[in-house]
Amino acid sequence: MDFGYTTEQQDLRQEVRKFIDENVSQGLLDEMEAGEEGGRGPEYRELVKKVADKGWIGISWPKEYGGQSGSRIDQYIVEEEFMRRGIGIGGAGSGAPAILAAGTEEQKEYFIPGMIRGEIIFALGFTEPQAGADLAGLQCRAVRDGDDFVINGQKMYTSAAHYASHIYMMCRTDPDAPRHRGISIFLIPMDTPGITVRPLWTIQSDPPAPPGTTYGMPRTNETFFENVRVPASCMLGEENGGWYVGAMGLNLDRVGASRYLISVRRDEDIVNWVKENDFNGYSPAENPAVRDKIAEMWTEAQVCRLMTMRSMSLVNRGGNFTYEGSAEKVWAPEHGVKTTEAIAQMLGPYAQLLSNSEENIEDGLFAHNLMGSFQSGINHGSVQIMRDQMARRGLGMPRG
Ligand SMILES: Cc1cc2nc3c(=O)[nH]c(=O)nc-3n(C[C@H](O)[C@H](O)[C@H](O)COP(=O)(O)OP(=O)(O)OC[C@H]3O[C@@H](n4cnc5c(N)ncnc54)[C@H](O)[C@@H]3O)c2cc1C
Repeated sequence: MDFGYTTEQQDLRQEVRKFIDENVSQGLLDEMEAGEEGGRGPEYRELVKKVADKGWIGISWPKEYGGQSGSRIDQYIVEEEFMRRGIGIGGAGSGAPAILAAGTEEQKEYFIPGMIRGEIIFALGFTEPQAGADLAGLQCRAVRDGDDFVINGQKMYTSAAHYASHIYMMCRTDPDAPRHRGISIFLIPMDTPGITVRPLWTIQSDPPAPPGTTYGMPRTNETFFENVRVPASCMLGEENGGWYVGAMGLNLDRVGASRYLISVRRDEDIVNWVKENDFNGYSPAENPAVRDKIAEMWTEAQVCRLMTMRSMSLVNRGGNFTYEGSAEKVWAPEHGVKTTEAIAQMLGPYAQLLSNSEENIEDGLFAHNLMGSFQSGINHGSVQIMRDQMARRGLGMPRG
């Protein structure tokens, strides 16, 4: 088995690094750290345009919709290099796989190029107050009225809704059908009358997480739909067939460099910190227990990386992708929780003080990462539900 990159892939990596050195300004990093518009302000959008002009967004998406019909591994290399600098860019988590698989020609021609240019950003509207892990219990209703649907209901944790251009949402279109069969997906502009977004502040908002925090978002949202009228052409896939499109899309969206790189960046931060700092003459880097723990964390991060590469390769080859995205979604967040806890133990009680404490370390960075790490085990499908999917799809066990 050869885990190496081809010469072309190595050249691509060097080209991306050079591009980042030349185009990622301090102004952009400051803008992202300020967190407004979810870190996607004017400088970020300008960068996305330049990256799109290079042909580096949606590399694996088809040429006829503005992609490159290229390799997932190339896409991964680009994402990996940007994520290493803390900049999320490109395909994972975008909803594109579901649109490409189930969309009409018109939808693909409209949404995919818009996403590549960074002009279309989706919020994900799946979860509801009574439907989270048990998503098939969702109640947000879409009722047909001539050529339109009229939507009423509430979505929870619609994280990007305050800056997204569209929402990709699941609604119940047939209340009499079995739970999984009466659901449809809609792609709706956020400025449609009747949509209200209300902030839902998380544990990371007060006191605010310092710049450089790799885990957890300060804000998500509740989104309300009151007589929201949309044309039937907003539906993605077949009426009442949305469950299967949504599940397939989520599974593919779980694959990407960002999951494992969040862990790697934090592991690198801690390695640098223990090498450069001491506590009144005591150097954690010289403590065998600390060295041992850091080596263990680093090894686990490499396992995350290999799992990601395997998924990418499988998707690239058109293989049968069933439980692999769920496995990544278990391994990476749990590694994150484990390592942020280990860091707090290695650095002692001061590392557990938040940004508003005078005695904190690094402005509370390690404590905020520790708190934020728990979010990643819940959002985009909780680790318990991912394990259940692995048992069923990977091991062929019956539904629990
Ligand atoms: C920061 C953040 C951002 C999010 N962003 C979005 C978003 O953008 N869009 C969106 O639609 N959703 C989003 N979510 C919602 C997320 O997907 C749900 O929180 C998740 O699916 C769990 O649902 P719940 O919170 O209702 O918990 P519950 O469904 O009440 O579950 C509570 C706990 O019980 C466990 N559990 C429940 N049932 C079982 C079972 N049968 N077997 C084993 N364990 C079980 C769950 O895993 C969970 O740990 C976000 C969540 C967070 C925290």
